[in-house]
Amino acid sequence: MFTPLIEKITQAQTIIIHRHVNPDPDAYGSQGGLAQLIRDNFPLKRVYCVGEAEPTMANLLTPDSIADEIYREALVIITDTANRERIDDQRYAQGQTVIKIDHHPNDDAYGDWLWVDTNASSTSQMILRFALHMQETQQWQITKEFAKLVYAGIIADTGRFMYSHVDKQLFNEVGEIIELIDLQKFYQEAYSRTLADVQFSGYISQNIQTTPHGCGYVTITDETLKQFDVSRTKASSMVNMLANIEGIHTWVFFTEDIENDNVRCSIRSRGPIINGVAKQFGGGGHPLASGARVNSWQEIDAVLAELDTICQAYQETL
Ligand code: AMP
Repeated sequence: MFTPLIEKITQAQTIIIHRHVNPDPDAYGSQGGLAQLIRDNFPLKRVYCVGEAEPTMANLLTPDSIADEIYREALVIITDTANRERIDDQRYAQGQTVIKIDHHPNDDAYGDWLWVDTNASSTSQMILRFALHMQETQQWQITKEFAKLVYAGIIADTGRFMYSHVDKQLFNEVGEIIELIDLQKFYQEAYSRTLADVQFSGYISQNIQTTPHGCGYVTITDETLKQFDVSRTKASSMVNMLANIEGIHTWVFFTEDIENDNVRCSIRSRGPIINGVAKQFGGGGHPLASGARVNSWQEIDAVLAELDTICQAYQETL
């Protein structure tokens, strides 16, 4: 099944790898991991990772700034991005060939070739699977730099092996690279928190609200972000503080995005399927982890009403 991907990578001299806007560790891990894998095995190819830099993940990679001309004969590979609108850097379309590699529902089947596996825990796991296949069949090198990147994506998207799609295959695949990672150093780096982060988590705990049938939520204004000196990305990444609370089936962080004049909705669930609600509000995502944006604080009531309805239906099945 990897034949077209291997052919395209082998033939291309220039490869540009994109991922989604507002990157998370799986976006960075799959993008950077694939780039690292190609660089390690084809040192003469020009490989670039593009997209806005996310300062909180500077330990994983630094994006490249590239001129438009570079796209002319390039192979473009987009990782972890379900739909075209969310691709960071819309110049992707100028590439000679476009490949999509992703684990979200394939609602927008873009690209000349695509590999979508909604059963994979993360796109980083898919990149790891490809690397292991190439190591076995064509003796490709797997380096510690590669291992660190894909591991970062896997542990983030699985909540350190807790969420859905954690299975024997994942542990077997991770088992192949685990000895390449200095785990203590890795976890210290990945989970180090500032005092401001901890104080902000106190704010979150104090400000959880709930709908009648079990949707928990927190509203985070730009002023609050400034007060605690916490970035929007960092704040949204803390959404699972509301996981595993008795009586709360779905939960949302509503985070104000003052520059874009909208409110980011980070929606999670431990039962009800939420990506339909996210889609209703112009977003999307996985059945239990989705996102959307609404234009005003008033609109969040409509999001909460929909989520409360699915929570009620879910409660009736318990
Ligand atoms: P987030 O809460 O932003 O971390 O997003 C959770 C999941 O939903 C990720 O898998 C995203 O790819 C997806 N997602 C977030 N926002 C959007 C959006 N506006 N449109 C489509 N998918 C989204």
